[in-house]
Amino acid sequence: MYAEVIINSNAKALNKIFDYIVPAQMEKIIKAGARVLVPFGKGTKLEDGFVINLKENSEFANKEIAKIEIEESLTEENITLAKLMSRKYFCNISDCIKLMLPPGTGGKKISDRTKEKTGSFVYLKKDIDEINYLIENEKIKSEKHLRVLNFLETNDGIYKTDLQLIAEVSDSIIKTLEKNGFIEIIQKQIERNPFINKKIKHDEPKKLNSEQQKCFNGISYSIDNNEFSKSLIYGITGSGKTEIYLQLIGKVLEKNKTAIVLVPEISLTPQMVDRFLARFGEQIAVLHSKLSIGERFDEWNKIKNGEAKIVIGARSAIFAPVKDLGIIIIDEEHDSSYKSDMTPRYNAKDLAKYIAKQNNCPLVLGSATPEIVTMYQAKSNDIKLYTLTKRANNATLPNVEIVDLRNELINGNRSMLSFKLQDAIKKNLEDKKQTILFLNRRGYSTFVMCRECGYVAKCKNCNISLTYHRYENKLKCHYCGYETNTIDECPDCKSKKVKYFGTGTQKLEDEIHKIFPNVSTIRMDIDTVSKKNSHEDILNAFKNNNIDILIGTQMVVKGHHFPNVTLVGVISADGSLNMDDYRSVERTFQTLVQVAGRSGREENGSVIIQTYNPDHYAIIDSQKQDYDLFYNQEINLRKMLNYPPFCDIILIRFSGSNLQEILKLSNLIYQKIINVKQNNLFVYKPVAAPIDKIKNKYRWRIILKGKVTSKLLDIINYAINDEEIKKCKDTSIVIDINPNTMS
Ligand code: ADP
Ligand code: ZN
Ligand code: ZN
Repeated sequence: MYAEVIINSNAKALNKIFDYIVPAQMEKIIKAGARVLVPFGKGTKLEDGFVINLKENSEFANKEIAKIEIEESLTEENITLAKLMSRKYFCNISDCIKLMLPPGTGGKKISDRTKEKTGSFVYLKKDIDEINYLIENEKIKSEKHLRVLNFLETNDGIYKTDLQLIAEVSDSIIKTLEKNGFIEIIQKQIERNPFINKKIKHDEPKKLNSEQQKCFNGISYSIDNNEFSKSLIYGITGSGKTEIYLQLIGKVLEKNKTAIVLVPEISLTPQMVDRFLARFGEQIAVLHSKLSIGERFDEWNKIKNGEAKIVIGARSAIFAPVKDLGIIIIDEEHDSSYKSDMTPRYNAKDLAKYIAKQNNCPLVLGSATPEIVTMYQAKSNDIKLYTLTKRANNATLPNVEIVDLRNELINGNRSMLSFKLQDAIKKNLEDKKQTILFLNRRGYSTFVMCRECGYVAKCKNCNISLTYHRYENKLKCHYCGYETNTIDECPDCKSKKVKYFGTGTQKLEDEIHKIFPNVSTIRMDIDTVSKKNSHEDILNAFKNNNIDILIGTQMVVKGHHFPNVTLVGVISADGSLNMDDYRSVERTFQTLVQVAGRSGREENGSVIIQTYNPDHYAIIDSQKQDYDLFYNQEINLRKMLNYPPFCDIILIRFSGSNLQEILKLSNLIYQKIINVKQNNLFVYKPVAAPIDKIKNKYRWRIILKGKVTSKLLDIINYAINDEEIKKCKDTSIVIDINPNTMS
């Protein structure tokens, strides 16, 4: 017997399948998923790997498997899923297997420190973009430094000795990185049980209203009959979706089964987790990136051992090692974080469907503004639709007004705050109420231009204009982290007429202080959210210290309940409308509806949306808070233009520093695809991506429009697996199905 083995390593050269001989005494116990130690290369060191397949013949095998570690094996289901993903998302099986291993350690055991009280935790100090920039420009050369930094990029907040073990480095390497400002070491309390200090009042199931009951009964039917079903609960915020989730989970637990609940990373707040704790106590495990690696490791083990029956987590919690799965719930199903932007570029919603089918259990999606594609499936009976029309706690929706910014200019108002919004803020301050102002651009000014010759300050690595950051007094690139000094003279024509245009959150904060001198403000964007000052901390400070105005980007949209907020101002609704992406209109609508929902949670609230496009249907429909109206308009447009759900978009992205090679490769692949005749497949010629250079790499793309079928996957695989292509080492090719961004 022979085994196909994947080596558990990050090294590119090992990203292949190797054949090994299975010794006779192992034949009875070995199976796909088994963790094995195998001899590799010339050395005597054994490598760690996984069996992905067993077979009777092999031309290549000449070494024997040395050892099997039964206890640390993956399941056969894991391996099947990894294989399926590697084909569907065009990546290596080993990349998929990594998602299923214990967090961050690549399977290495880290020590149990339940008895210790404090420890040294290592965090990245420099910006990830900046580190990547330094790495790519070969400013960091030491292999050991690279290992530590690469590891921390995805596994921030690790116990120092664990880091030494995993990255195989000494204490002095860590000290050097600290001295050079790359990392920081923080002494903190070890919280191996995130809930240990919580005393939460037990909460009993509520009596469901008739709409809730109908939904509960429908989904219960699948639980009772152990059958797969897919449902969408469509109901505004506060209509009682979470209460239904809780009761369905209650039912699943009675049957001795388990549940996975996915929520967007940013809404995974303690308040949200508390509702599950209040109902189910410590049977829950939480998985998200804010936990230290030790905490994640413990939570993962709690699930694996069956101590935790309910897993709540962000996207990757879909891979949690649950047994006897009884339900998968995906809350805020329209959220883009369910689609991964990194290899493997999977969509957790698609995988959830597959996993629910395998486990004969229901998949439940919930949202107030379902993704257009999901609602289309619901209307075409691919998904059962349950609608909740009433708010369970009888709160009213806020009053939404639109301000046409073109009129402000005509009336001589050059400020970014319309007169109407200024008046509303003033009144809110007098009433001692809180205000949220939403602007989806960080920094101070968004570009710097010479008014004499039209020169725009651009990043030297990317084809992107630089953003002025006032506090550091620097021009920064939001793509690669490059920064440079500000300019007051045009480098091209030497004119002094250099002007800073556009508004970011920093400038908005300044302007607020100019108009309202005694106001208190707090700002939330990537620049203010850090290790020591999390998203959660800022929102809590706003809530508990009764700060007058919260100014923020997308981050303010979700998560919290602020009883005292009665005014929300959207500084510009247009930014995302004009993007080169078929979903930009949908996202604008969703964001506006959600941000409006922050106002008047307990008393009457109002919302002011400023825009240059007051006649756009996304703006008008969000003013009316009318999803159904928006859906009908948007779906007609999608049909006319042939966009999802009427097809899938497949993006083949090429990037590299050698433009000639990119041109050659992209044309080659294009030709190979169009040479295979396919009905209903549209293939667009290779063109430069909208942002055609990032981090000194040129970027080109091919777009395909068509349904992703097995046949199409074969065609693409055939097109990219080519000897000629493999020789082109400089260019990387990424294939992304229905990507989050087209840029
Ligand atoms: P959603 O998840 O749709 O935002 P929730 O489930 O959080 O809605 O419900 C909003 C509020 O109404 C919560 O405080 C919840 O406890 C309460 N609630 C939900 N369903 C009921 C019910 N049937 N009877 C009484 N209160 C309910
Ligand atoms: Zn100039
Ligand atoms: Zn850049």
